[in-house]
Amino acid sequence: MKKPSLNRARVKKLRRITNQINKLAPQMAALSDGQLKDYTRKFRQRLQDGESLDSLLVEAFAVVREADRRVLGMFPYDVQVMGGIALYQGNIVEMKTGEGKTLTATMPLYLNGLSGDGAMLVTPNEYLAYRDGTEMGQVYEWLGLTCRVGFAAPGAKEFTTKDKRAAYGADITYTTNAALGFDYLFDNLATNVKNKFMRDFNYAIVDEADAVLLDSAVMPLVISGSPRVQSTWLGVADEFIYTLKQDEEYKYDKEDHAVWFTDSGHDVMSRYFAVKDPFNGHHTELLRATNLALKAHRLFERDKDYVVDQDNQVELLDTANGRVMEGMKLQAGQHQAIEMKEQAEISPDTRTLASITYQNLFRKFKKLSGMTGTGKVAEKEFIETYYDRVIQIPTNRPVARVDLPDKVYTTLPEKLMASLQEVLRLHKIGRPILLVTANVEVSEIYSELLLQQKIPHSVLNAKNAAKEAAIIAEAGQKGAVTVATTMAGRGTDIKLGPGVKELGGLAVIGTEKMASKRIDQQLQGRAGRQGDPGTSQFYVSLEDHVVIKHGARWLQKYYKKRRRQMDPAHPKEITTAKFRRAIAQAQEASDSADRQQRRKSLEMDESAQIQRQLIIGERNRLLYGEKVDLDLPAILRAEFTRFFTTHPQLTVDQLVRYILDNVTYQYFDRPTTLALADQATVVNYLMKIAQAELARKQASFANAEEENDFYRIVVLKAIDECWVEEIDGLTQLQTIVASRSTAQRNPLYEYHKEALRSYNTMRHDLYHRITRHLLMSTIDINKKGEKQIYFV
Ligand code: ADP
Repeated sequence: MKKPSLNRARVKKLRRITNQINKLAPQMAALSDGQLKDYTRKFRQRLQDGESLDSLLVEAFAVVREADRRVLGMFPYDVQVMGGIALYQGNIVEMKTGEGKTLTATMPLYLNGLSGDGAMLVTPNEYLAYRDGTEMGQVYEWLGLTCRVGFAAPGAKEFTTKDKRAAYGADITYTTNAALGFDYLFDNLATNVKNKFMRDFNYAIVDEADAVLLDSAVMPLVISGSPRVQSTWLGVADEFIYTLKQDEEYKYDKEDHAVWFTDSGHDVMSRYFAVKDPFNGHHTELLRATNLALKAHRLFERDKDYVVDQDNQVELLDTANGRVMEGMKLQAGQHQAIEMKEQAEISPDTRTLASITYQNLFRKFKKLSGMTGTGKVAEKEFIETYYDRVIQIPTNRPVARVDLPDKVYTTLPEKLMASLQEVLRLHKIGRPILLVTANVEVSEIYSELLLQQKIPHSVLNAKNAAKEAAIIAEAGQKGAVTVATTMAGRGTDIKLGPGVKELGGLAVIGTEKMASKRIDQQLQGRAGRQGDPGTSQFYVSLEDHVVIKHGARWLQKYYKKRRRQMDPAHPKEITTAKFRRAIAQAQEASDSADRQQRRKSLEMDESAQIQRQLIIGERNRLLYGEKVDLDLPAILRAEFTRFFTTHPQLTVDQLVRYILDNVTYQYFDRPTTLALADQATVVNYLMKIAQAELARKQASFANAEEENDFYRIVVLKAIDECWVEEIDGLTQLQTIVASRSTAQRNPLYEYHKEALRSYNTMRHDLYHRITRHLLMSTIDINKKGEKQIYFV
């Protein structure tokens, strides 16, 4: 834990700068609109003359602040200015709900936007990105900067490459993390400068930084392409699993949600499939298939993780809300393994064309900052992953909300009853209530209970962001009862209706302890905005998910002993502090398990990340470079040498075959007199034929530019083909390494070693493909009279 005094010192510094900005306020207020707007031009001039953004901060913030007042009718409070400075400096900024993060962001976005290199606001919620982008956009445009939203407006059909270029080329861009991630991947698949639309990532503010940068970071973004050849092992691997016994041939760790084969499991595998050593490098397909099948059987539960629909297809469920995730597929063959287990229809296993984790996506920004209601508890992880500090900004008004201690019960029915009684009590006096559940199922149970009590209420489960934002905005009215899942209506402010303050404000009731302390804090933060009164309280039972999964053993023992003595109609609260402490510890354990999971995925992606950097660098050099500056003769020579060394007993037939497949169609010799055992002779012979073929090609180009284009396309195509294989292989590799940890090896080390080896193989493969495409492609004139390349 950071010492609070350190945060205090940081805040004090922000305060000092804010005072300077305050001093300029009257002066800015006295300017005409025209004079105020003219600052943008002046700032840009000063930047051009060599001044730094830092040196403009005080004035620029004063200018936006005044513009915010004139355009939006809101003048940023001092704490918002402080938050804005911290964001400009590239920190994660913790500001409580209702403190006005949207308006806060206008100041750092304007200042960074002045550079013209791009400033982005990224949020997980499309609805909010669009709303904030259009509302705040007015301020930037008024001041003479361009601002765009990074995806199609609601109702608009298309978002073309041109639109994207305008969006990413704007001074300021509002977008979602998903749109940004997929655009990044697509942009790097472009084979032509005309199809590229992104520039280097400069500055970003990530809204709900903990959700985007930490929680969703384990699920990589994936673009899938052409189907892979179906593994022939799928069916047998599935049958194999039925012959195994848990704890003997494989182990299952419920807490870590992991399964793996034991050494004895690998022995059985060797015998079952009649292979000597599954780890000798020749049986990766087998290892992959058996691991996927084992996971399908033990880690994925029907009707919890997936359903089999009436068309006999496996559909994934979102475990947070139980809804079917349309079109989502598990990667790298896992989906097919589950389909096999269920004897459902087997869907094509698609190749991973491109993939990246959010962590690595956001690390590409030169300067990254974030806003969150609850980031401080995760500061260490932010620093480790993004090198960002977390600064807590004080609230505009003192927080008057009271966070009441947890209410603990032995059984779930008792807890339900007790929390319902509390709702009835509060409802009677007219206080608005926000009942927050961990998932859709529970929210439906509460809705049913409320219905039985004839209490009118709204239920939100993150289905329609726009509609839910409107409903939740009403949740602060007198007598309102709102049941919502943790995600529903997030980011929308709950203002209190008339007369509610006097009653004690909004009451937030958490119906269980959530998987992370941060989520608890977010829920609490929904009450008590801007110094409003309010309360929060969590109802917990020993049957709650976190308690079962991460709680101390004695809690379970206690539960088993007592549960039968409990009467749901008369809930008995457990008031001993020991229980509350144990439950807090269970939540900490849950947080720490998630952290480990995230770290693992980050480490796994490290190899792909390094390779991705190299490949993208190479691609861009080719795309944007004047001339293809590859040493083609050297590549040819390397490829021919590889051919020679991989054919130790080279025959005339092999050589002829190779030439016809890889070098030229125009070859009619049989080099019977050639010294086939001599490397230099063979390589030189091939070089001569290749050069003749190249000379033939050169004759068909009208000019040097055309020739260069040809080289570029050939090399790009080869790179892309190899890279797709590589990234697909890496994705699969991750599923295999898990099984190796039992063979007393470090899985991560194995993974990186394997990844490096496959990268080196890819390099050879690349030379081979370049050679083949370069020499064997034909150039023709099509009907429209354009030159066209036909690849082999
Ligand atoms: P957060 O995202 O921090 O929870 P929002 O950005 O949704 O908060 O803002 C909360 C509410 O406060 C909004 O209705 C906004 O219009 C209002 N608000 C923010 N800053 C100011 C301000 N300086 N003056 C007046 N109203 C403000």
